[in-house]
Amino acid sequence: MKHIRNFSIIAHIDHGKSTLSDRLIQVCGGLSDREMQQQVLDSMELERERGITIKAQSVTLNYTANDGETYQLNFIDTPGHVDFTYEVSRSLAACEGALLVVDAGQGVEAQTVANCYTAIEMDLEVLPILNKIDLPQADPDRVSEEIEDIVGIDATGATQCSAKTGIGIDAVLEDIVKNIPPPEGEPEKPLQALIIDSWFDPYQGVVSLVRIKHGELKKGDKIQIMSNGQVHIVDKVGIFTPKQTDTGILKTGEVGFVIAGIKEIHGAPVGDTITLQREPAEGPLPGFKKVKPQVYAGMYPISSDEYENFRDALSKLSLNDASLFYEPENSTALGFGFRCGFLGMLHMEIIQERLEREYDMDLITTAPTVVYEIVEKGGNVIHIDNPSALPPVGNIDEIREPIVEANILVPQEYLGNVITLCIEKRGVQTKMAYHGNQVAVTYELPMGEVVMDFFDKLKSTSRGFASLDYNFKHFQPADMVRVDILINGDRVDALAIICHRDASQSRGRQLAEALKELIPRQMFDIAIQATIGGHVIARTTVKQLRKNVIAKCYGGDVSRKKKLLQKQKEGKKRMKQLGNVEVPQDAFLAILKVG
Ligand code: GDP
Ligand code: MG
Repeated sequence: MKHIRNFSIIAHIDHGKSTLSDRLIQVCGGLSDREMQQQVLDSMELERERGITIKAQSVTLNYTANDGETYQLNFIDTPGHVDFTYEVSRSLAACEGALLVVDAGQGVEAQTVANCYTAIEMDLEVLPILNKIDLPQADPDRVSEEIEDIVGIDATGATQCSAKTGIGIDAVLEDIVKNIPPPEGEPEKPLQALIIDSWFDPYQGVVSLVRIKHGELKKGDKIQIMSNGQVHIVDKVGIFTPKQTDTGILKTGEVGFVIAGIKEIHGAPVGDTITLQREPAEGPLPGFKKVKPQVYAGMYPISSDEYENFRDALSKLSLNDASLFYEPENSTALGFGFRCGFLGMLHMEIIQERLEREYDMDLITTAPTVVYEIVEKGGNVIHIDNPSALPPVGNIDEIREPIVEANILVPQEYLGNVITLCIEKRGVQTKMAYHGNQVAVTYELPMGEVVMDFFDKLKSTSRGFASLDYNFKHFQPADMVRVDILINGDRVDALAIICHRDASQSRGRQLAEALKELIPRQMFDIAIQATIGGHVIARTTVKQLRKNVIAKCYGGDVSRKKKLLQKQKEGKKRMKQLGNVEVPQDAFLAILKVG
């Protein structure tokens, strides 16, 4: 155990976690050069394309240090995006230390701070690492000062490296061995293994990543899942090198996988404790905070015969993503579908893309919304995740919207822009501190404003320099109203939004304008109205197609006509028939483009 080091790498997105991970694997010989594909850990196709890490992954490596001893290094890569911070704290629970990777050109950013505090709260040894020192703009001295100033940890003599060129990687490894404490735990005690992650593998069933706190775990052991009492026999145990490698045993302090014929991930929940049936531990280890979805949207198959396939796809996806929530929902406009809950907009996009790519689904997604707390007349409190579920105005005593605490780090020259943006989004400033050229500002902001396009706006108003981290704080009474959209006089439930009364007139108008642009012209005029409580606040019209336009479309040579038809067909896939009006997918997300 003296020779084990368990650590995570934490960083703001793009500061080089994945690159450094790959480099460590390479230096420790985890994979031959031929096997060493670019970005081994970001193996999911989507992760690679988007350049982000979604699921945490672990790797066990052997490193022979300068002291001549060989150490077992277990490290867990963590995702960097704000939607996935819960995965970070999960990974940290398995470690004694964390490398805080900071881009030496960029400096400290919001998630550097957020992730580092999580690590400190969990009593981890945090080692600052200055990465990208090969870049001409790298300024390790300034960035060290920033780390001390903003994060508040000692960064004098922080290890400097370039994960890209390989400079300083040996120093990083020595730093790990010297400064991260070995795990504590008792081999003689009954087994307690913490489930850090579980995922479903079509060939092996559920695979769980575990950290052995006490005792040991062997192939053939009868294990018990402490929360549900279920007993299973261990088929395989081992480590990732990063290839899945059987070892037959996991000892105290180690991190590795267990496969025990468990059929679905809810049978081995993340944060749960595994013990042995013949000698169970007295109690479970402290688990993790449950994550709740923060953004909800309806998802509907374009064609209703796809409904069963869609249900299967969701159930398979949720096998690998316990944070994905779904339940059946129906809409007068869109028919049968599911209400889905996500951790944030990026999570929603990823799920949508996976459903389309991996499961070949054609879906309509409705405008995302946050959860509102409604106090009904008589004092009953309900939570709604769908604007069309809002009770009639006469039955409502109070609407409360979710408020987040948003921590923003921004260079001084862009502070004014950021403040303007926060005020526009109804933010209330609660803290502000200057750290050299950087300013840390904290705002309480409506979550409904933050989850939509706030991040993009923040980035564009600060030329990409501002960074953001946020957490749900509480529900707070607010003057919210529902804006309904009527198409040719029919209310379309899937297009309704909830927004603040002050913004409702302009949102309604913008929405009606946006829909006018998005809904294609047809053989007749289409009237689009935005209403609040039955009052029309905006009206636009999609004018009918003129005859000669159609004639033109269908004239011309055959190949052009074919192309046109093909295009139409592709377009169709994304259309939903509402009454006699065809509405494209984009229209349902028009709200994302206004405000
Ligand atoms: P992550 O989001 O923290 O996992 O960051 P990645 O490892 O995906 O790196 C983000 C980008 O920075 C990629 O384009 C890398 O090639 C680049 N990068 C990572 N480390 C270095 C480095 O040491 N030097 C330079 N110049 N670029 C680097
Ligand atoms: Mg990464």
